[in-house]
Amino acid sequence: MTLLSVSEARERILSNFQPLTTELLPLADCVQRVLAQDVRAETDLPSFDNSSMDGFAVRSADAADANPASPRSLRVVADIPAGSSPTISLVPGEAARIMTGAQMPDGADAVVPVENTDFDNRKAGAPHPEFVVISDSVNAGQNVRPRGMDVHAGDIVLQKGRALKPQDLGLLAMLGFATVGVHRKPRVALFSSGDELLDVDAPLEAGKIRDSNSYMLASLSASAGAEVIKLGAAKDKYASVKALLEKTVNQNIDLILSSAGVSVGAFDFVKDVIESNGNLDFWRVNMRPGKPLAFGEYKKIPFIGLPGNPVSAFVGFEVFVRAALGRLSGVSDGGRQTVRVRSEAEIVSDGRESYLRATIREDNGVLSASLTGHQGSGNLLSLVQADALLIIPAGVKCVPAGQEVNAWLL
Ligand code: AMP
Ligand code: MG
Repeated sequence: MTLLSVSEARERILSNFQPLTTELLPLADCVQRVLAQDVRAETDLPSFDNSSMDGFAVRSADAADANPASPRSLRVVADIPAGSSPTISLVPGEAARIMTGAQMPDGADAVVPVENTDFDNRKAGAPHPEFVVISDSVNAGQNVRPRGMDVHAGDIVLQKGRALKPQDLGLLAMLGFATVGVHRKPRVALFSSGDELLDVDAPLEAGKIRDSNSYMLASLSASAGAEVIKLGAAKDKYASVKALLEKTVNQNIDLILSSAGVSVGAFDFVKDVIESNGNLDFWRVNMRPGKPLAFGEYKKIPFIGLPGNPVSAFVGFEVFVRAALGRLSGVSDGGRQTVRVRSEAEIVSDGRESYLRATIREDNGVLSASLTGHQGSGNLLSLVQADALLIIPAGVKCVPAGQEVNAWLL
């Protein structure tokens, strides 16, 4: 078994994955999907000068030095609701009542909010007054959103490789993109293995445990943008593992992900089945938690075998699988964001790259971390209680209290 650093193992895995083909999807289906090309605006935003307030569109010169001692009265010549396109042109001494988002009439260059006028009938449906009195000075451009203020036609507004957020969908809709070119979603076939595993709704039996990894890994995969095909749990028998893996063939699966059964136990058949139907690399990665990591392919479909212990499976997913799914999805900046945190107490490590469960506290802009309970790889509660994984680099055996380390926020 080869001893690899975390980054070597990750690079080796990543070199086997390429961004998936692209498809044109209805905009509503594009959240979390990754853009296959840059998006260039074809129109200005806003595409016409419009009011940012409910009020009165005016010529600023008419009321440039209005004040309470010397108010200006303007004749109101039109009503401009949102959605209309005014055909009038204001001449000196004229105003038009205008609503938020409505197009500015020709001649007007400012909007006086209704609150700053003498017009106090603000009930819906009230007709506009004949005159409106303004008692404060008006500046050219006030409360007007000029055409192109946000986006200019021709600007690149979203870049290839971006996982689309809800607000991106809003912008794409503003720009009139009914469909968007995105990468196909990775299809992940997921299975657990072990004779000890029971379904979540089965009564506990002596010696058995519930298959928790399948729930955790399915939702981790979905959170990384994958479509998950749950294959269930294989028994610790060659034929059972083989029957289950056979279900991945011809199903356009991009990654087979498993937990357990790839260790050196007498009943760890997953590795045998993979080896005799493809190939398997078995790596000892210099990390903790994380037993050996299995990587290979089953009938040409990439395979990652995570450890069975729940916390090891979680960390293995975050360190290796998230990156692989990111590569398949075409994201340019996959992976979790790293922050610097100060350890509240001394941390003893064993020299492997360690991922430790911790809670984070913020004090005057400084993040400090303390470990949550038992750090054993079977203790899931301490992961549930954690809001970060501290990353202690390889080669470090002691982090003194007060020292900063990298952390991934969960
Ligand atoms: P193994 O890799 O098969 O030696 O399993 C290591 C540990 O992980 C054992 O304690 C297993 O019972 C546990 N384990 C394996 N699969 C799962 C699973 N799907 N959910 C929760 N724990 C599991
Ligand atoms: Mg087992």
